[in-house]
Parts: sequence; C-alpha cells; structure tokens
Amino acid sequence: MFNALVVEKDDAGKTSAGVQQIGLDQLPEGDVTVAVEYSTVNYKDGLCIGPGGGLVRNYPHVPGVDLAGTVEASDDARYKPGDKVVLTGWRVGEAHWGGYAQKARVKADWLVPLPDGLDTRQAMAVGTAGFTAMLAVMALEDHGIKDGPVLVTGAAGGVGSVATAILAKLGHEVAAVTGRPETADYLKDLGATQIVAREELNETTKRPLEGETWGGCVDAVGGAMLARLLGQIKYGGSVAAVGLAGGAALPATVIPFLLRGVNLLGIDSVMQPYDNRVRAWGRIARDLPMDKLEAMMQPATLADLPGLGRDILQGQVKGRVVVDVNA
Ligand code: NDP
Repeated sequence: MFNALVVEKDDAGKTSAGVQQIGLDQLPEGDVTVAVEYSTVNYKDGLCIGPGGGLVRNYPHVPGVDLAGTVEASDDARYKPGDKVVLTGWRVGEAHWGGYAQKARVKADWLVPLPDGLDTRQAMAVGTAGFTAMLAVMALEDHGIKDGPVLVTGAAGGVGSVATAILAKLGHEVAAVTGRPETADYLKDLGATQIVAREELNETTKRPLEGETWGGCVDAVGGAMLARLLGQIKYGGSVAAVGLAGGAALPATVIPFLLRGVNLLGIDSVMQPYDNRVRAWGRIARDLPMDKLEAMMQPATLADLPGLGRDILQGQVKGRVVVDVNA
C-alpha cells in the first residue's frame, strides 16, 4: 500500500480530497509503473482538487498533471527499472490518475527520459508550467523576437516565473507584469529588467493600436490584458498565449493583426509529440539557470495539496510548488 491524494465525489455531487492508502491493483492500466518522487501544483490541479472537480473525468481520482520519478516495472522496451522519467500532459491527473501518489501507472508514450543536467526534483520545479514556458519561448523564437523588452504576464506565477528566467538567460530584456507589487524583488532576481503593474494593462482602451513597445510576449493571463497588449506589440512581433488566469473572453479587434502583422501563437503543452517534448526538456536543462529555479521553488507534501489548490486558483502562489510525495 502507498499514499495518494484521492478526490472523491458523493451522491450529492460534492467533492472532497484527502490522503489515503491505496494499492497497486487500484492503479489504472498502463505499460510503465513509476515510483513517483515529485509532482507539482499547476492551475489545472487547483481546478481538479477544488469543489466541483473542474476537469476530472472519473471518480475516485488521483490528480497531479505531472510527475517525475524512477521506473519500477515496464512492459515497454524503451524503459527499464531504474530509469529516471518525467511526465507532463496527456490528460494525466484529469482523465488518468496522476502524480499525487507514491506510484503511478502510465502509458510509455507519455513519458520522457529525464534530461542530463536535471534531477527529478528540479524537473518538477519546472513541471508543466515551466515546460509550457519553454514551449512559449521556442514558439516566439521560431517567429522571431523583435528588439525591445519581451513582456511576460502573470509573471509571479509558475509559467511567468520560468519564462522570465529563461528569457533573461537568453539575453532578452524582460518586462514582468504582476498584480503583486511585493514580488518585484523576486522578479528582478529572476532577471526581469522592468516591472509593469497589472492595472496598467488591465485598463481597457478604445484605441486598437498603441505605441509599439514590446518585442514579443509570453501571456499567461488572457482576457482583457491580452486584448490590450496585442496593440502594443512591435510590428511583426508575436504573442505566445499560454493561459487564461485573467479570463477566457478575448475582447480584441483584428487591427493589430492587419496593421502590425502581429502573430498570436497558441501554446498547448498537453498533446506535444515526443520529439518536441525531448527538445523542450533539453532546452530547459540548457537555458534555465538552476539557481533561479531554486529561488522560485517552494516545497509541499500531499497533505498540503487541498490548501494549495485553493491558493493557485486565487493567484496566490508565487513561483513553483514542488510536492515531495514521499515526505
Ligand atoms: P499561476 O497561478 O501560478 O500563475 C498565474 C498568474 O497570473 C498569477 O500568479 C498572477 O500573477 C496572474 N493572475 C492571476 N489571476 C489574474 C487575474 N484575474 N488578472 C490578471 N492576472 C492574474 O498559474 P500557472 O502559471 O501555472 O498557469 C498560468 C495559466 O497558464 C493558467 O491559466 C493555466 O491554466 C495555463 N497553463 C496552460 C498550459 C498550456 O498547455 N497552454 C500549461 C500550463 C498552464 P501576478 O500575481 O504576477 O499578477
């Protein structure tokens, strides 16, 4: 038997989450059994742990959209016991039991070998949010980052913190947008050269185009903020749209696309093909400074998760929460 955070739903449809002992025979089908070492807290996890269950497809459920650990048993030739592996995406933690347990059974196709230069704790300090930040930076690079500061919204959150550190390491000026002025020193330590108050970009304007200010953008917020910043991107620049922490509606006009050739690049980390995942993890090991990763990391245990799930939905989590499932 081993520990897991299990979310249950009662007959009235009310969900509750708590640490339970479960057995290997309860795990879903899969080719590879992983002794999980670390998982993390992402925005989606907040939805899955919280009331109503958010994205959960089956109950009882073990959430946790990512995990890193050691292969314990494998029916797939690509993995053998003792291999270190990392997993993000593929609806793990939503449709298939995820990383909030000491063991997970998953499809071999969903795994990636841990890249050289990262241990399992560091890989999960990156986790889904950081992996997505890297995908966003790669998409901006593919379309060309223009001169001038690159804007990162939701900067003190998980995606934003990692995007800030990577872009700064790559030599870009980073303008970090935050609604928490108290995180300014933290963001500057990660490499931000400019702090922009959330209110400045949340105000709506009737002008579809403003001054050409930003060389590109990683946007974790969406909504009115995304609509506004589209009109501030330099000619031919790109916005990598990652999330919707500020809302799903996009009250924008087509003018920035027509008159400034702005590209809006959608980033999806869930269904990334294997080669892209390996490439992104390799870039993370190379381009994310490990001292910055330590600075953005806070530890947690399985028992902490119900509270942390609430915190992340309220935009209260700073950086990345790493869950030591064996603590
Ligand atoms: P976090 O909660 O860690 O960060 C989100 C940040 O957004 C907050 O820290 C806060 O930053 C800011 N924010 C929160 N609420 C608002 C608001 N109402 N208005 C403006 N800003 C707000 O979440 P993650 O970084 O893990 O995820 C960010 C988004 O990206 C989520 O929507 C998530 O679902 C999505 N995502 C998408 C993925 C994909 O594959 N496309 C993968 C991973 C995440 P601050 O305090 O600095 O203002």
